[in-house]
Amino acid sequence: MSVLVYVNAPEGKIAKAAYEAVYYASKIAEKEGGDVHVVTYGSVSDDSLAELGQYGASKVMVCRELSEENDQKLTAIVAAAREKCGAKVIVFSFDPSGKVVAPRLSAKLKAGLVSGATSVPEIDGARFSIRTNVFSGKAFATYQVETEIKIISLMPNSLKPEKSDKKAEVESLSPSLPEAGLKVVERKRQSGDGIPLPEAELVVSAGRGLKGPENWGIVEELAEALGAATACSRPVSDIGWRPHHEHVGQTGIAIRPNLYIAAGISGAIQHLAGVNNSKTIVVINTDPEAPFFKAADYGIVGDAFEVLPKLTEAVKKFKASN
Ligand SMILES: Cc1cc2nc3c(=O)[nH]c(=O)nc-3n(C[C@H](O)[C@H](O)[C@H](O)COP(=O)(O)OP(=O)(O)OC[C@H]3O[C@@H](n4cnc5c(N)ncnc54)[C@H](O)[C@@H]3O)c2cc1C
Repeated sequence: MSVLVYVNAPEGKIAKAAYEAVYYASKIAEKEGGDVHVVTYGSVSDDSLAELGQYGASKVMVCRELSEENDQKLTAIVAAAREKCGAKVIVFSFDPSGKVVAPRLSAKLKAGLVSGATSVPEIDGARFSIRTNVFSGKAFATYQVETEIKIISLMPNSLKPEKSDKKAEVESLSPSLPEAGLKVVERKRQSGDGIPLPEAELVVSAGRGLKGPENWGIVEELAEALGAATACSRPVSDIGWRPHHEHVGQTGIAIRPNLYIAAGISGAIQHLAGVNNSKTIVVINTDPEAPFFKAADYGIVGDAFEVLPKLTEAVKKFKASN
């Protein structure tokens, strides 16, 4: 049984989460004894698409006729690709594109959908059991899907892909596309040229303990030394010290980086909801009773104004000597 993966390649560049989704699909195909097919669109190069073979794809179908992200048209493209390869399982990344296309496809194909999967399914005949995080990561739920066609969107950073030296075959796909009722008028990148927060493996974040926007230099310097993205707590973006796209938590972005450094953030439950799935959490806070220390892997009771520059210096020294 083949597995189909929708790969998002905005501006011709394959998103990091997409490699993970292809690898995830290969783990399902391994269990079911089938191939992994990929469907994408736009101007991404054939060479980049062939590289998806390293993560387990055998064939990539690309629709060059569509150049901009349009949910209705993308749904039609994925449905056409599924028809062509006969996949019974379709995998998306649980990213903004996957979050809108997967439910549309689920309705169109009458397929069961599990959003935000964190595990490779347990397969028992036609029944898939898939785990997701619920209640802002405080618990997990296992869903069973029994529809003939199954759709899964994978929470980024749920597994570490391994690479092989295989290449995928690339072919074009030209389905008839519906007239879309919605038109994208403008698409504007919010996050500047830095590492997009949802994709960052390392994140340096700060809160109200930094006292004011003029003090963010020490956060940015550590982020730059590490090659990390910057983030912040909600009040910091509400007051306008930092842009809203940096706000993490229950009402902001949920992230799962390998390293999350939090300076001057108390660790309120709403903040933790967006970051507590990080692999390693380092907390810097003057208050030894700050709730964040309970969620931390490493805690530094200290003044962020002293600790952050020292960490930056240590990272630079380490990099210079290696
Ligand atoms: C419905 C709802 C949704 C919410 N959603 C979110 C969300 O998505 N994300 C979010 O972040 N919050 C959210 N909040 C707000 C949340 O409850 C907290 O108020 C907020 O996270 C606190 O931000 P903070 O830790 O930066 O500030 P504070 O709570 O003021 O904490 C500042 C911390 O800095 C420490 N500190 C002070 N000086 C220093 C220093 N020099 N060095 C080191 N440490 C120092 C203090 O000890 C303190 O622990 C939400 C609230 C509600 C009600």
